[in-house]
Amino acid sequence: MKPEIFFEEQIRLWPLAQTNYQLLSSSVRIKEISLANSQIKVQYNPTRIVSSGAKVDTSSIRERPCFLCEKNRPAEQISLPIDDKFSLLCNPYPIFPEHFTIVSGEHELQQIRPYFSNLLAITCQLPAYTVFYNGPQSGASAPDHLHLQACTHGYMPIDNEWRGLLQKQNQPIVTAEDAALYAFNGYLRNGFIIKATRPEEASRLFNLLYSGLQSSPLIKGETEPMMNIIAYYQEGGWIIVIIPRKKHRPRQYFAEGEEHFLSSPGAADIGGVFITTSEKDYEKTTAELLCEIYNQVCLNDDEICLLAEHIKSKS
Ligand SMILES: [Zn+2]
Repeated sequence: MKPEIFFEEQIRLWPLAQTNYQLLSSSVRIKEISLANSQIKVQYNPTRIVSSGAKVDTSSIRERPCFLCEKNRPAEQISLPIDDKFSLLCNPYPIFPEHFTIVSGEHELQQIRPYFSNLLAITCQLPAYTVFYNGPQSGASAPDHLHLQACTHGYMPIDNEWRGLLQKQNQPIVTAEDAALYAFNGYLRNGFIIKATRPEEASRLFNLLYSGLQSSPLIKGETEPMMNIIAYYQEGGWIIVIIPRKKHRPRQYFAEGEEHFLSSPGAADIGGVFITTSEKDYEKTTAELLCEIYNQVCLNDDEICLLAEHIKSKS
């Protein structure tokens, strides 16, 4: 079954999902804000409080039933196997017109390195979608259950902005046969791009980058270096955008009173769809605030250059 058909079928069967997708298209508010080299779509989406406000500390996670395990899912939720490990589910609290969670059949920790080849294969199977990954401390609201996500291609501003980022970087950090690893900056969510036509080469460059992130003092992470990944398969090859993270939530999340602002940036926010869950926060979101938040959670231009040098020295 095609993902588009599966999506229609799921919406037909599940009133909660149907209502939330209808709300997304009819009453979710969006305003566009221009930043240096990018557009941000600020979305006021109250249903996302389930994720943005989620308690992701170890003891809260241990105490709640896992909503991605098959035994705990609502009876109306159907799934579509996508490979021998992962299945597609419709996300009932969508950010995108089509929003899938791609879950492992096992309840196992969120981590990307052992499953990077699955990410490549799944991306290749979903060329009409953008596939993305939130690290366990970088936006995943189920850090205890391995999952990827996929959404309508073209909705996230980065879907159309990565080409421009790549054009500004004429020198890759590392080149291999039919593949290259680039760093980009000047984007407020600076990071790396792997361009590859063969999965072995994409994996080799990812492992090199991963080791570089792991050994750099700039990047933290308890179980893996903090990061978001946004992936595409087009024109016979992969484009993998990797954004290392310094923090999950900005200081405003923990502030009291007027300064409090509920933002838990994950791959969607990093890709340019910035989620707010209250009207007050939506109104308060300006270019200045966005810059301030992105600067806290992502690496600045100097830091990304240092990191690129570090990775180059290890290659
Ligand atoms: Zn689970």
